Amino acid sequence: VQASALATPAAPGALADGTRIALLANIGSPSEVGDAARLGAEGVGLLRTEFLFLDAAEPPTVDAQLASYRAVLDAFPGMPVVVRLLDAGADKPLAFLPAGEELNPALGRRGLRALRAEEGVLRDQLAALAAAGAGSAAELWVMAPMVTTVEEARFVVQAAHDAGIPNAGVVIEVPSAALIADRMLRHVDFASIGTNDLTQYTLAADRSLGGLSALQDPWHPAVLRLVAEVGAAGIAQGTQVGVCGEAAADPLLAIVFAGLGITSLSMAPAALAGVRAALARCTREQAESIAAAALAAEEADEARRAASAVARARF
Ligand code: PEP
Ligand code: MG
Repeated sequence: VQASALATPAAPGALADGTRIALLANIGSPSEVGDAARLGAEGVGLLRTEFLFLDAAEPPTVDAQLASYRAVLDAFPGMPVVVRLLDAGADKPLAFLPAGEELNPALGRRGLRALRAEEGVLRDQLAALAAAGAGSAAELWVMAPMVTTVEEARFVVQAAHDAGIPNAGVVIEVPSAALIADRMLRHVDFASIGTNDLTQYTLAADRSLGGLSALQDPWHPAVLRLVAEVGAAGIAQGTQVGVCGEAAADPLLAIVFAGLGITSLSMAPAALAGVRAALARCTREQAESIAAAALAAEEADEARRAASAVARARF
Protein backbone atom coordinates (compact mmCIF):
# COMPACT_ATOMS: atom_id res chain seq x y z
CA VAL A 1 0.00 0.00 0.00
CA GLN A 2 1.54 3.27 -1.06
CA ALA A 3 0.19 6.61 0.10
CA SER A 4 0.73 8.06 -3.33
CA ALA A 5 -1.51 5.39 -4.86
CA LEU A 6 -4.26 5.66 -2.27
CA ALA A 7 -4.47 9.32 -1.43
CA THR A 8 -7.35 11.28 -2.84
CA PRO A 9 -5.64 14.40 -4.14
CA ALA A 10 -5.96 16.66 -1.09
CA ALA A 11 -4.21 20.01 -1.24
CA PRO A 12 -1.15 20.13 1.00
CA GLY A 13 -1.71 21.96 4.29
CA ALA A 14 -1.24 25.70 3.96
CA LEU A 15 -2.52 29.02 5.25
CA ALA A 16 -4.42 31.30 2.87
CA ASP A 17 -1.24 33.24 2.03
CA GLY A 18 0.56 30.05 1.02
CA THR A 19 2.54 29.48 4.25
CA ARG A 20 3.02 25.72 4.34
CA ILE A 21 1.87 23.78 7.40
CA ALA A 22 2.50 20.07 6.78
CA LEU A 23 -0.46 17.92 7.84
CA LEU A 24 0.72 14.56 9.13
CA ALA A 25 -0.82 11.49 10.74
CA ASN A 26 -0.47 10.05 14.24
CA ILE A 27 -0.42 6.27 13.99
CA GLY A 28 0.23 3.33 16.29
CA SER A 29 0.55 0.44 13.85
CA PRO A 30 1.06 -0.42 10.17
CA SER A 31 -2.69 -1.22 9.95
CA GLU A 32 -3.48 2.50 10.28
CA VAL A 33 -1.36 3.48 7.29
CA GLY A 34 -4.19 2.99 4.78
CA ASP A 35 -6.49 5.46 6.54
CA ALA A 36 -3.73 8.02 6.88
CA ALA A 37 -2.95 7.83 3.18
CA ARG A 38 -6.61 7.85 2.10
CA LEU A 39 -7.32 10.92 4.20
CA GLY A 40 -4.48 12.87 2.64
CA ALA A 41 -1.72 12.73 5.25
CA GLU A 42 1.51 14.22 3.90
CA GLY A 43 3.46 11.69 5.92
CA VAL A 44 3.52 10.46 9.51
CA GLY A 45 4.18 12.96 12.30
CA LEU A 46 4.09 10.45 15.13
CA LEU A 47 4.51 6.68 14.99
CA ARG A 48 4.01 5.53 18.59
CA THR A 49 6.36 2.53 18.49
CA GLU A 50 5.44 1.24 21.95
CA PHE A 51 1.98 0.39 20.55
CA LEU A 52 3.68 -2.18 18.29
CA PHE A 53 5.05 -4.09 21.27
CA LEU A 54 2.41 -3.69 24.02
CA ASP A 55 2.04 -7.48 24.39
CA ALA A 56 5.73 -8.36 24.13
CA ALA A 57 7.22 -9.96 27.24
CA GLU A 58 10.76 -9.71 25.86
CA PRO A 59 12.39 -6.85 23.98
CA PRO A 60 11.53 -7.19 20.26
CA THR A 61 14.43 -8.31 18.09
CA VAL A 62 16.01 -5.96 15.56
CA ASP A 63 14.50 -8.04 12.75
CA ALA A 64 10.97 -7.94 14.20
CA GLN A 65 11.24 -4.17 14.61
CA LEU A 66 12.67 -3.73 11.14
CA ALA A 67 9.64 -5.47 9.58
CA SER A 68 7.19 -3.19 11.40
CA TYR A 69 9.06 0.02 10.60
CA ARG A 70 9.45 -0.99 6.95
CA ALA A 71 5.71 -1.58 6.64
CA VAL A 72 5.05 2.01 7.69
CA LEU A 73 7.93 3.68 5.82
CA ASP A 74 7.18 1.91 2.55
CA ALA A 75 3.68 3.43 2.48
CA PHE A 76 5.03 6.97 2.33
CA PRO A 77 7.64 7.25 -0.44
CA GLY A 78 9.16 10.70 -0.67
CA MET A 79 7.38 11.78 2.53
CA PRO A 80 8.53 12.29 6.12
CA VAL A 81 7.84 9.55 8.66
CA VAL A 82 8.55 10.63 12.23
CA VAL A 83 9.13 7.66 14.49
CA ARG A 84 9.10 8.12 18.23
CA LEU A 85 11.43 5.92 20.26
CA LEU A 86 9.71 3.64 22.77
CA ASP A 87 7.75 5.72 25.28
CA ALA A 88 7.37 3.16 28.06
CA GLY A 89 6.01 3.91 31.49
CA ALA A 90 3.06 5.63 33.16
CA ASP A 91 0.07 5.42 30.77
CA LYS A 92 2.01 3.16 28.32
CA PRO A 93 3.58 0.33 30.37
CA LEU A 94 5.79 -2.18 28.54
CA ALA A 95 6.64 -5.51 30.21
CA PHE A 96 10.19 -5.48 28.87
CA LEU A 97 10.95 -1.96 30.11
CA PRO A 98 9.50 -2.05 33.63
CA ALA A 99 9.73 1.04 35.78
CA GLY A 100 9.36 -0.86 39.06
CA GLU A 101 7.19 0.32 41.92
CA GLU A 102 6.76 4.06 41.69
CA LEU A 103 4.46 6.37 43.60
CA ASN A 104 4.23 8.83 40.67
CA PRO A 105 4.80 6.88 37.42
CA ALA A 106 4.18 9.94 35.23
CA LEU A 107 7.13 11.56 37.01
CA GLY A 108 9.14 8.38 37.06
CA ARG A 109 11.37 6.30 34.84
CA ARG A 110 9.46 6.69 31.59
CA GLY A 111 10.28 7.53 27.99
CA LEU A 112 13.93 8.26 27.36
CA ARG A 113 14.69 7.67 31.05
CA ALA A 114 13.54 4.02 30.74
CA LEU A 115 15.51 3.57 27.50
CA ARG A 116 18.70 4.85 29.09
CA ALA A 117 18.23 2.40 31.92
CA GLU A 118 18.15 -0.41 29.30
CA GLU A 119 20.62 0.87 26.76
CA GLY A 120 20.55 -2.39 24.79
CA VAL A 121 16.89 -1.78 23.97
CA LEU A 122 17.70 1.76 22.83
CA ARG A 123 20.61 0.59 20.64
CA ASP A 124 18.52 -2.18 19.06
CA GLN A 125 15.71 0.22 18.26
CA LEU A 126 18.10 2.74 16.70
CA ALA A 127 19.78 -0.03 14.68
CA ALA A 128 16.41 -1.29 13.39
CA LEU A 129 15.32 2.23 12.51
CA ALA A 130 18.59 3.04 10.75
CA ALA A 131 18.26 -0.12 8.65
CA ALA A 132 14.61 0.60 7.85
CA GLY A 133 15.40 4.19 6.90
CA ALA A 134 18.38 3.26 4.74
CA GLY A 135 16.32 0.86 2.66
CA SER A 136 13.30 3.08 2.22
CA ALA A 137 12.12 5.81 -0.12
CA ALA A 138 10.47 7.59 2.83
CA GLU A 139 12.32 10.24 4.79
CA LEU A 140 12.95 8.82 8.26
CA TRP A 141 12.95 11.18 11.23
CA VAL A 142 13.45 9.82 14.77
CA MET A 143 12.54 11.57 18.03
CA ALA A 144 12.85 10.78 21.71
CA PRO A 145 10.01 11.10 24.26
CA MET A 146 10.16 12.78 27.69
CA VAL A 147 13.35 14.71 27.04
CA THR A 148 13.80 16.96 30.07
CA THR A 149 17.33 18.36 29.92
CA VAL A 150 19.78 19.56 27.27
CA GLU A 151 22.11 16.72 28.26
CA GLU A 152 19.39 14.20 27.39
CA ALA A 153 18.75 15.89 24.03
CA ARG A 154 22.44 15.83 23.19
CA PHE A 155 22.78 12.22 24.27
CA VAL A 156 19.92 10.88 22.20
CA VAL A 157 20.61 12.95 19.08
CA GLN A 158 24.23 11.81 19.16
CA ALA A 159 23.15 8.19 19.67
CA ALA A 160 20.80 8.42 16.67
CA HIS A 161 23.42 10.08 14.47
CA ASP A 162 25.99 7.45 15.52
CA ALA A 163 23.51 4.73 14.52
CA GLY A 164 23.26 6.26 11.03
CA ILE A 165 20.02 8.23 11.43
CA PRO A 166 20.61 11.74 10.10
CA ASN A 167 17.36 13.40 11.30
CA ALA A 168 17.09 13.18 15.07
CA GLY A 169 14.97 15.26 17.39
CA VAL A 170 13.03 15.47 20.62
CA VAL A 171 9.45 15.52 21.77
CA ILE A 172 8.91 18.67 23.79
CA GLU A 173 6.38 17.55 26.39
CA VAL A 174 8.03 18.47 29.68
CA PRO A 175 7.82 22.13 30.74
CA SER A 176 11.58 22.33 31.39
CA ALA A 177 12.27 21.51 27.76
CA ALA A 178 9.81 24.13 26.53
CA LEU A 179 11.14 26.79 28.88
CA ILE A 180 14.68 26.41 27.55
CA ALA A 181 13.67 25.58 23.99
CA ASP A 182 16.18 28.13 22.71
CA ARG A 183 18.99 26.01 24.18
CA MET A 184 17.36 22.62 23.47
CA LEU A 185 16.92 23.39 19.77
CA ARG A 186 20.61 24.12 19.30
CA HIS A 187 21.27 20.39 19.64
CA VAL A 188 18.48 18.80 17.60
CA ASP A 189 17.51 18.48 13.95
CA PHE A 190 13.82 19.10 14.74
CA ALA A 191 11.34 19.12 17.60
CA SER A 192 7.72 18.12 18.03
CA ILE A 193 5.53 19.37 20.86
CA GLY A 194 3.51 16.67 22.65
CA THR A 195 0.62 18.70 23.98
CA ASN A 196 -0.97 15.77 25.86
CA ASP A 197 1.90 15.44 28.29
CA LEU A 198 2.88 19.10 28.13
CA THR A 199 -0.62 19.95 29.39
CA GLN A 200 -0.50 17.23 32.06
CA TYR A 201 2.82 18.46 33.40
CA THR A 202 2.11 22.19 33.09
CA LEU A 203 -1.20 22.00 34.95
CA ALA A 204 0.00 19.22 37.28
CA ALA A 205 -3.10 17.16 36.46
CA ASP A 206 -2.82 13.42 35.68
CA ARG A 207 -4.03 12.94 32.09
CA SER A 208 -5.59 9.59 33.00
CA LEU A 209 -7.87 10.96 35.74
CA GLY A 210 -11.27 11.72 34.25
CA GLY A 211 -12.13 13.79 37.31
CA LEU A 212 -9.35 16.24 36.42
CA SER A 213 -10.17 16.49 32.72
CA ALA A 214 -11.14 20.16 33.06
CA LEU A 215 -7.47 20.85 33.82
CA GLN A 216 -6.27 18.72 30.87
CA ASP A 217 -7.00 21.57 28.47
CA PRO A 218 -4.34 22.55 25.92
CA TRP A 219 -6.09 25.92 25.46
CA HIS A 220 -4.82 26.95 28.90
CA PRO A 221 -2.72 30.07 28.31
CA ALA A 222 0.13 28.56 30.35
CA VAL A 223 0.36 25.75 27.78
CA LEU A 224 0.01 28.20 24.89
CA ARG A 225 2.79 30.33 26.33
CA LEU A 226 5.10 27.30 26.33
CA VAL A 227 4.14 26.46 22.74
CA ALA A 228 4.87 30.08 21.82
CA GLU A 229 8.29 29.80 23.47
CA VAL A 230 9.18 26.73 21.41
CA GLY A 231 7.71 28.16 18.20
CA ALA A 232 9.73 31.36 18.60
CA ALA A 233 12.94 29.42 19.21
CA GLY A 234 12.23 27.35 16.11
CA ILE A 235 11.78 30.46 13.97
CA ALA A 236 14.88 32.15 15.42
CA GLN A 237 17.05 29.11 14.73
CA GLY A 238 15.42 27.89 11.53
CA THR A 239 14.52 24.59 13.19
CA GLN A 240 11.25 22.86 12.34
CA VAL A 241 8.84 22.57 15.25
CA GLY A 242 5.67 20.49 14.92
CA VAL A 243 2.82 19.63 17.23
CA CYS A 244 1.88 15.95 17.60
CA GLY A 245 -0.50 16.00 20.60
CA GLU A 246 -4.26 15.62 20.24
CA ALA A 247 -4.59 19.41 20.36
CA ALA A 248 -3.42 19.60 16.74
CA ALA A 249 -6.77 18.03 15.73
CA ASP A 250 -8.75 21.05 17.00
CA PRO A 251 -9.12 23.28 13.89
CA LEU A 252 -9.13 26.58 15.80
CA LEU A 253 -6.22 25.55 17.99
CA ALA A 254 -4.38 24.45 14.84
CA ILE A 255 -4.68 28.04 13.61
CA VAL A 256 -3.33 29.29 16.95
CA PHE A 257 -0.35 26.93 16.61
CA ALA A 258 0.31 28.16 13.07
CA GLY A 259 0.26 31.71 14.46
CA LEU A 260 2.84 30.70 17.06
CA GLY A 261 5.34 29.51 14.45
CA ILE A 262 4.54 25.78 14.31
CA THR A 263 5.42 24.31 10.89
CA SER A 264 3.65 20.92 10.98
CA LEU A 265 0.65 19.39 12.71
CA SER A 266 0.19 15.68 13.30
CA MET A 267 -3.16 14.21 14.26
CA ALA A 268 -5.56 11.28 14.01
CA PRO A 269 -6.21 10.89 10.26
CA ALA A 270 -9.95 11.58 10.67
CA ALA A 271 -9.14 15.14 11.78
CA LEU A 272 -6.99 16.07 8.76
CA ALA A 273 -9.78 17.42 6.52
CA GLY A 274 -11.20 19.79 9.16
CA VAL A 275 -7.80 21.19 10.05
CA ARG A 276 -6.82 21.56 6.39
CA ALA A 277 -10.01 23.55 5.69
CA ALA A 278 -9.56 25.80 8.74
CA LEU A 279 -5.93 26.66 7.92
CA ALA A 280 -6.82 27.51 4.33
CA ARG A 281 -9.21 30.21 5.54
CA CYS A 282 -6.72 32.52 7.26
CA THR A 283 -3.45 34.19 6.47
CA ARG A 284 -0.37 33.97 8.62
CA GLU A 285 -1.03 37.47 9.92
CA GLN A 286 -4.57 36.53 10.88
CA ALA A 287 -3.32 33.37 12.57
CA GLU A 288 -0.89 35.51 14.56
CA SER A 289 -3.65 37.82 15.82
CA ILE A 290 -5.87 34.86 16.71
CA ALA A 291 -2.93 33.37 18.64
CA ALA A 292 -2.25 36.67 20.39
CA ALA A 293 -5.87 36.86 21.57
CA ALA A 294 -5.70 33.32 22.99
CA LEU A 295 -2.34 33.93 24.68
CA ALA A 296 -3.62 37.04 26.45
CA ALA A 297 -6.50 35.15 28.15
CA GLU A 298 -6.58 34.22 31.82
CA GLU A 299 -8.35 30.88 31.43
CA ALA A 300 -8.63 28.09 28.85
CA ASP A 301 -12.28 28.85 28.09
CA GLU A 302 -11.54 32.52 27.70
CA ALA A 303 -8.67 31.70 25.30
CA ARG A 304 -11.03 29.58 23.21
CA ARG A 305 -13.68 32.31 23.13
CA ALA A 306 -11.16 35.07 22.37
CA ALA A 307 -9.60 33.13 19.49
CA SER A 308 -13.00 32.32 18.11
CA ALA A 309 -14.16 35.97 18.34
CA VAL A 310 -11.11 37.21 16.43
CA ALA A 311 -11.48 34.43 13.85
CA ARG A 312 -15.16 35.31 13.31
CA ALA A 313 -14.38 38.99 12.93
CA ARG A 314 -11.63 38.32 10.36
CA PHE A 315 -13.12 35.70 8.07
C1 PEP B 1 1.84 13.81 23.80
O1 PEP B 1 2.25 13.62 24.94
O2 PEP B 1 1.24 14.85 23.44
C2 PEP B 1 2.05 12.82 22.73
C3 PEP B 1 1.96 13.14 21.46
O3 PEP B 1 2.34 11.57 23.05
P1 PEP B 1 1.49 10.55 23.94
O4 PEP B 1 0.06 11.00 23.96
O5 PEP B 1 1.70 9.24 23.27
O6 PEP B 1 2.14 10.63 25.27
MG1 MG C 1 3.63 12.12 25.45
